[in-house]
Amino acid sequence: MKRMLLNGRWVSSSETIEIRNPQDNSFIDTVPRATTEDMQAAIAAAVTGAQRAAQLPTHQRMTILRETAERIAKNFDRFAETIACEGIKTIREARKEVTRCIETIRLSAEEARHIHGETIAFDQMPGSENRQGYFSRMPIGIVAAITPFNDPLNLVAHKIGPAIAAGNAIIVKPHEATPLSALLLAEMVQQSEIPDGMLQVITGYGSEIGSTLTTDRRIRMVSFTGSPQTGETIIREAGFKKVSLELGSHCPVIVMNDADLTSAVDATLSGAFWAAGQNCVHVQRILVQDDIYDRFCEDFVTRTAAYRMGDKLDEGTDMGPLINEQLACQVERCVNEAVAEGATLLAGGQRQGNFYTPTVLADVPDSCHLAQNEMFGPVTLLYRFHTLEEAIDQANRLDYGLHAGVFTRDMGTAFKAIKQLHCGGVMINDSSDYRIDAMPFGGVKGSGLGREGVRYAMHEMTEPKVVCFNL
Ligand code: NAD
Repeated sequence: MKRMLLNGRWVSSSETIEIRNPQDNSFIDTVPRATTEDMQAAIAAAVTGAQRAAQLPTHQRMTILRETAERIAKNFDRFAETIACEGIKTIREARKEVTRCIETIRLSAEEARHIHGETIAFDQMPGSENRQGYFSRMPIGIVAAITPFNDPLNLVAHKIGPAIAAGNAIIVKPHEATPLSALLLAEMVQQSEIPDGMLQVITGYGSEIGSTLTTDRRIRMVSFTGSPQTGETIIREAGFKKVSLELGSHCPVIVMNDADLTSAVDATLSGAFWAAGQNCVHVQRILVQDDIYDRFCEDFVTRTAAYRMGDKLDEGTDMGPLINEQLACQVERCVNEAVAEGATLLAGGQRQGNFYTPTVLADVPDSCHLAQNEMFGPVTLLYRFHTLEEAIDQANRLDYGLHAGVFTRDMGTAFKAIKQLHCGGVMINDSSDYRIDAMPFGGVKGSGLGREGVRYAMHEMTEPKVVCFNL
């Protein structure tokens, strides 16, 4: 039985949640099913934790983070296996997540020394000639971090790393299906000298303990990554505090006639089926210009059909399962609905328990659920277009805007698309799922508010304090 981290101690609870492997429902472990009283105790501990965190000098915060990154690297295989067992990733995908997590924590250590303010020219105001001063950025206080199941380690690192680097206390509420990676990460952090209450990980159901955390007035910021539905609930309930939301999308990739076809197929294929499509920057729509549409379709569909679905720990497996049967059935229902309404099924379309075969659809009517809403599963839709303007209109038509991709060799086309696409990031000659951990990451419209990427998350987790000397 795993325990959760409350006020510097590893504690259990009378009720537990069973963690099961989504590929075969086999039992892995249990974690505490925290109560609202547990969450209240964590918030009370975080009040003292935040005071202590704000007193820690920069070099100590850097040391905690550097040591943590080293420990993760030493326990690399343990982390990869934990992700691959509790979550939806194959072992090869899980290793990439561990590598990125090490990078995220190292970046956090480096960025801690770059929390800069600015001097202010007070003498710009008549009457202020004798004043001099500056602003510096101060820790925001207590951060509540709520995370999803699909990247159970690195998305937690993207909240813990910046929070510690900026001198905050943080309470993490990981997804109830995948809390083991977050607990293992906290175990690595706790082996350093860190004040009690600075980092806490409380395991439980979002529906039971989430609002105790998000509505408490002592929490100064909620950093949420998850579905638009939960994001809306949180922003309605949170009240007087900062809220950052990293939500879902329906990412488009535009492939122009002049694109390098091989690299466009390679990148969009990986972007469509990485983590079985359970990825916020998943390629859900591929818009292909008419001259190359038939060739693109043929290559993409042939490569999709060759994907190997199966045991996540098998090195040869390309794609794992959906997180649970409910999501697998939802994918099945939406694909069947699209086909019934006239879509053409080019590949996939089969559910086997929690697995769903990589699926490609064309001619999907705009009225279908799949054409309007994010599908957190291995399904991608192909569209044919004639002009760039048509493709941009199609890409912008939904209330999402996380990332988009554009394949072209023409600079003019690239810059036009960059200017006109409504989203947080445009990847030229890459699929929408390209990302590094040091860049600003986040969406516009219904895809979110605020930015992650270590330095940008630290900006959100700090507040400017102005100092002025009247000389
Ligand atoms: P989810 O919203 O179901 O759960 C996310 C977290 O919210 C979980 O920890 C859950 O316990 C918690 N939660 C649920 N109800 C809550 C409540 N009322 N109050 C507080 N917390 C509550 O999301 P999911 O299914 O885990 O993740 C999939 C979604 O996340 C997709 O939409 C995906 O696009 C999005 N996502 C976005 C990003 C990004 O960076 N933009 C990254 C990964 C996933």
